[in-house]
Amino acid sequence: MSATECLTESTRKPITQLNAEQINRYKRHLILPEVGMEGQLRLANAKVLCIGTGGLGSPISLYLAAAGVGTIGLADIDVVSPSNLQRQVLFGVSSIGEDKVAVAARRLKDLNPDITVNQHKVVVNSSNVLDLIKDYDVVIDGTDNFPTRYCVNDACVILKKPNVYGSIFRFEGMITVFAPHLENPDRPGEHGPCYRCMYPEPPDPGSVPSCAEGGVVGVLPGIIGTLQANEVLKLILGIGRPAIGRLTTFAALDLEFRTFKLRRDPTCPVCGDHPTITKPIDYEQFCGVPILDPKSAAETQAEVRRAKGGNGKLTAAPDPTLDARGLPPGYAYNAEWEITPREVKSQLDAKKNFLFIDCRQANEYAITNIPGAQLIPLQQLPQRISELKGHENEEIIVHCKSGGRSLQFARFLKQQGFKDVKSMAGGISLWNKDINPGGPQY
Ligand SMILES: [Zn+2]
Repeated sequence: MSATECLTESTRKPITQLNAEQINRYKRHLILPEVGMEGQLRLANAKVLCIGTGGLGSPISLYLAAAGVGTIGLADIDVVSPSNLQRQVLFGVSSIGEDKVAVAARRLKDLNPDITVNQHKVVVNSSNVLDLIKDYDVVIDGTDNFPTRYCVNDACVILKKPNVYGSIFRFEGMITVFAPHLENPDRPGEHGPCYRCMYPEPPDPGSVPSCAEGGVVGVLPGIIGTLQANEVLKLILGIGRPAIGRLTTFAALDLEFRTFKLRRDPTCPVCGDHPTITKPIDYEQFCGVPILDPKSAAETQAEVRRAKGGNGKLTAAPDPTLDARGLPPGYAYNAEWEITPREVKSQLDAKKNFLFIDCRQANEYAITNIPGAQLIPLQQLPQRISELKGHENEEIIVHCKSGGRSLQFARFLKQQGFKDVKSMAGGISLWNKDINPGGPQY
């Protein structure tokens, strides 16, 4: 982390009293005996680092700024893209393409000019994490990938910082506080667990879909992030029963909270009795995935480009990065199993006789589809194979979103005795870049 990537405001002097305006601003806090003047001064002198300035980071930082937390650090490398706006309430159309930390800092300082906002425009990794968190009192994990979660966890355990953890997926979220240096309030004398006590091993690469792949309801980060902000305030103020040793899950569709006990694992490699991890390790290697997903970074750039190019509207410009056959650079084209969107287009134009199948889900079909393609979701294929009876000797072309499911579909049909089955390379995602440029990407 070089100094140029971080905009850190000068260190604040300890605040020992509030002025008349501040007393007015915080009077709803001051009247609470659990907060009072002493608590408000504690908030004013507290330093909190929020890692991730997205869905969770938005409500977290807004509420912490409003509550008067004196120093808020924001760590995020991303820029604002149009698909962020469904849930990341710090941002607006006017901030598309700008650094999230810069836009967030402006918004938070507008909300509360008394606070200091430190902008850390960095990818948090093993080389910078200790330096990044060492001056903060509380760290908040609002990230969305496994290497960063393990990285933040280990650094927090090593430097004895409470780690207020939240995660979200589709309609479900969870929250807990990892703090192996603090007592588990439910088990006097016992310390709290860390993230590794809960998840000793990372999931197999690709086995857990991200929010970008699986979706997330836009309100959910608002709920979980607000709960994280509440835990931060409790930790700073030293009030209530912090969520140390307890994991609370929230199911949005049922409006149901459930709480599970979590215990510290004495054999944990980082917070256990005989730790083997005493400094940050290589988390990309440990998890088998990159911290920054190159595909999502490219999507963000494309989204921003389209939004900027069309005055906020999507524009139809062919993707200039495709090769002579209309494939993305480096695409491992499998001639035995695949056919390019351009070849499919010319067969459609020539009114060639073939069966064209879209094997995505109905909700995906509703987002964007190719006229002439018949919808048979991959999951339904075993039950619906009878619909394809009589087509065993015909040419069949299958497509999905990006080419993975359609390949499975094609292999299944071949096993069932179908002679000529091909998967459309790159799926409708590539079709909407090359054949129907400007068509929806999701
Ligand atoms: Zn642990």
